[in-house]
Amino acid sequence: MGGFADIGERLDALASQSLYRRRRIVEGPQGRELIVDGRRLLNFCSNDYLGLAADPRIAEAFAAAVQQWGVGAGASHLVCGHTSAHHDLEEALAEFTGRPRALVFSTGYSANVGVINALLSAGDHVFEDRLNHASLLDGGWISRADFHWYRHRDLDDLGRQLADSSADDRRMLIVSDGTFSMDGDLCPLRGMVTLGRQHRAWIMLDDAHGIGVHGPQGRGLVDPEIFSTQDVPVLVGTLGKAFGTFGAFVAGDDALIETLIQRARNYIFTTALPSAVAIATLRSLQIVKVEEWRREHLAGLIRRFRAGASEIGCELLPSNTPIQPVVVGDAGLAVAISAALERAGILVTAIRPPSVPRDTARLRITLTAAHTEADIDVLIDRLDVVLRDPEPA
Ligand SMILES: *Cc1c(COP(=O)(O)O)cnc(C)c1O
Repeated sequence: MGGFADIGERLDALASQSLYRRRRIVEGPQGRELIVDGRRLLNFCSNDYLGLAADPRIAEAFAAAVQQWGVGAGASHLVCGHTSAHHDLEEALAEFTGRPRALVFSTGYSANVGVINALLSAGDHVFEDRLNHASLLDGGWISRADFHWYRHRDLDDLGRQLADSSADDRRMLIVSDGTFSMDGDLCPLRGMVTLGRQHRAWIMLDDAHGIGVHGPQGRGLVDPEIFSTQDVPVLVGTLGKAFGTFGAFVAGDDALIETLIQRARNYIFTTALPSAVAIATLRSLQIVKVEEWRREHLAGLIRRFRAGASEIGCELLPSNTPIQPVVVGDAGLAVAISAALERAGILVTAIRPPSVPRDTARLRITLTAAHTEADIDVLIDRLDVVLRDPEPA
């Protein structure tokens, strides 16, 4: 059997391994509760970490900007789609991250692929943590640079591979998630910076889950008081998570940003983000900086969840971030637990291969500043029941 004749069989095979994915249809805005199939469910799976995706102040800024700018950007940034709205956002993001410049991309996925490809080509070297986000892996592969995996958060392994590759004097780029999106743990940034200096390699840090959530004013894992632009030359942040809007940015020095404008195909050959999204993000940025209570409240919820989980004997990964996975191993079991939680009024997605390594299927619980302490207690209570007996007779 050749060609596409087996396309249906392959789908059946996914289903038989509990790896088939279905989309839920959500009826209404993001928040602590979501309406799914007419039912109100407590939402523990969004990346809206600060609870800003439906914030009325940001929605109002967005609506006003649509009146002023219309909807579509009409063209790419290099043609005639680059507006003063994008420009103002870039300047604000550069100031926020403590970098000379920032460049807005339409998504985090395309920023990651675009940056790696703009910086590397055949014969160069890219070093990636095994658990990096798919967009970072795809970027590395597409670049045709020599691809080096290093063991998760393992500086010795990274150091050895850097030393082995440094003889040919080519470019070396160390690429990592800041907060690992399926595990919730942090990359060893200080050690990576030291290795980068030693081997004249650049660090590219994707702080998709950290920006807005960590550090003073929500500046993320790369606090500019600690890490200079030379320490971490390439910083990527996304705007669809803690910022509650859409898009992404890269921050760095002038030469980096100009290189991306000249060479990043995912920047050059794509329609610019709508200007109104840029304006909404500017409003969001003001809120992210000053509403420290959101980060404090979230940190309290994370502590409460971890203490509660420990009381019911539910093992968690070593994470102090809003991402709190419960690894169950088997994909079928993860799906069964997720379904049982849903029947109990709790929305938590089962994450399965290929999003995570084989036999590490998990429930990816995420907490946000929109939750209350009572929500956390309900979650713990339901988890206690469901983990004991995911498929009651
Ligand atoms: C979500 C995510 C992205 C992709 O960002 P989008 O703007 O949603 O495309 C990139 N990197 C990491 C680590 C992410 O978690």
